[in-house]
Amino acid sequence: METEFTIGDRRLRLLLGDITEVHADAIVNAANAHLAGGGGVDGAIHRAGGPEIMEECRQIGGCPTGSAVATGAGRLPAKAVIHAVAPRWRGGAAGEARLLSDAYRRCLQLADEMKLASIAFPSLGTGAYGYPVAEAAGIAVRTVADHLASGTSLRLAIFVLFSSRDLSVYAEEVGRLGTSAA
Ligand code: ADP
Repeated sequence: METEFTIGDRRLRLLLGDITEVHADAIVNAANAHLAGGGGVDGAIHRAGGPEIMEECRQIGGCPTGSAVATGAGRLPAKAVIHAVAPRWRGGAAGEARLLSDAYRRCLQLADEMKLASIAFPSLGTGAYGYPVAEAAGIAVRTVADHLASGTSLRLAIFVLFSSRDLSVYAEEVGRLGTSAA
């Protein structure tokens, strides 16, 4: 299932599926601060992409919460993997919202530095890190939509959701932007 919206001449797409199968210039990983690998999206990306990605992660060594680093994409159908570190949910009063939007913004900046045209995000933070999906979706959608409206190399941003419930939560947030469905 796929839904697409336009923001000026940029596109924002919602997709139900597995991010490792998505053809985009960059796919974003929900990494931890040690870039040490884990379950969820991270496990799937390293399994599908092969050991080169983890080798590069080891060389980089780590990434602070609220930031992101780029590596190659190994066997994945992408040019780069951007490893973003979302905050762990601690109840909402520990700067989580700012750290989550910072993580998305850093991914978008890195994509622009690499002059990429498309990027695919998972729902950062809302799995093992426990960020409530309705709140995370609002932050994710607003941060990415603002960036698409602000002069970027990106023509297309995709949110790849892993459940139809998550997809409908993200769709509701996109609906609040007042964009037009394509
Ligand atoms: P975090 O630790 O940042 O919470 P997780 O990987 O645990 O990251 O989960 C983030 C989101 O990614 C969850 O909604 C989870 O269901 C989803 N997810 C897990 N595997 C995949 C996949 N292969 N493709 C897309 N999304 C996935």
